Amino acid sequence: MRRPVSERLVLIFLIDALGYTQAGSHAFLPEFDSARHPVRSVLGYSSAALPTLMSGLLPEEHRHLSMYRRAGRDGVFSRLDWWLRPLSGMTGRQWTLRRWAAASLRRAGVTGYFSLYEVPLSLLSRFDLSQRHDVFSPGGFGAHLGLADLVAAAGGRLWNWTVPEARAFAELGEEIDRGERPVLFLYSAELDATMHAHGPEGEATAACLASLERRMRDLLVAARRRYREVRAFAFGDHGMAEVSATHDLWSRLDRLGLSVPRDFLFFLDSTMARFWFGTDAARRAVLALLAELPYGRLLDERELRAERAWFPEADYGEAIFLLREGEILVPSFMSGQPVRGMHGYHPNDASMYTTLLSNCRDLDPPTDLAGIHALLRREIGSIGQAG
Ligand SMILES: [Zn+2]
Repeated sequence: MRRPVSERLVLIFLIDALGYTQAGSHAFLPEFDSARHPVRSVLGYSSAALPTLMSGLLPEEHRHLSMYRRAGRDGVFSRLDWWLRPLSGMTGRQWTLRRWAAASLRRAGVTGYFSLYEVPLSLLSRFDLSQRHDVFSPGGFGAHLGLADLVAAAGGRLWNWTVPEARAFAELGEEIDRGERPVLFLYSAELDATMHAHGPEGEATAACLASLERRMRDLLVAARRRYREVRAFAFGDHGMAEVSATHDLWSRLDRLGLSVPRDFLFFLDSTMARFWFGTDAARRAVLALLAELPYGRLLDERELRAERAWFPEADYGEAIFLLREGEILVPSFMSGQPVRGMHGYHPNDASMYTTLLSNCRDLDPPTDLAGIHALLRREIGSIGQAG
């Protein structure tokens, strides 16, 4: 057997949508045997939760809530508008136009994760991407150092969404066999995708969890052969709810007979409807409609401040209507079709909690995402100081 070449490895698995419901009991990955507790996520989607995990900042500090915000003067889509808007009515060419638009954003230097989903092309230039820079790369938060900066500074390696997952897991295994790096960090989105498509209770989700469990266990076993000490951590950014109902708010808004974007502008996420108003009459009409709807509620300033998701400039909406757990908007700007699983509900909803799994018994259990960040910051920061 080869002698350990490194003293200590900090091994980190960020599994998108690994909820407390999925991983709260030791039935999942029992080798990570420290106590497991619910960890509170943040308001919003992975677009908000991943920046909080990677930076330790809260949504109003890192300024990400949803993938799309209202465009300011330098919105990334405004430079596409001269060709995109005239072509946006070509209903048979939507997929091609989206592909061109995405490629042109990459050429313009957008490195963050985004999808154009089914955002109406005629409205695209009214919005902007909240994540211009990849939050998994050094410099992703400007002068504020995030985990990606610390991993790089420690001589570690990180795999993000740009690497196909089979390759990422294989390369992580190769790095462990070499035994030279003190920190290895893998981000996986396959559980999130599986649960969206099949629901958190589906057989496909059980199979995905079993497959992740097997790969993570094998990597932990391999790491223990190669390093004298292995400190392993696995956690999600939020959980996942089974979808129980869908609602067509878009048609209701159309029937108000208001003009978009002159009277008002709206963005329909899967679990949130966000509004900006051009006229008082439009504001009154929309708020009256929302007040009638039983499946959601407006988040007021007090509550948004309490969630540390208050944006005084209304970047994410002058009014934010949040759906009840398990219910989604169909159609939305995300999809015209229903899905089986969704997140993006209130952080107090049971399905939204994630958890932290570890093989370390000496941890103060974190209670929220910023707590997980602080813990990892200490773990990575202690490299070089500990033998
Ligand atoms: Zn998701």
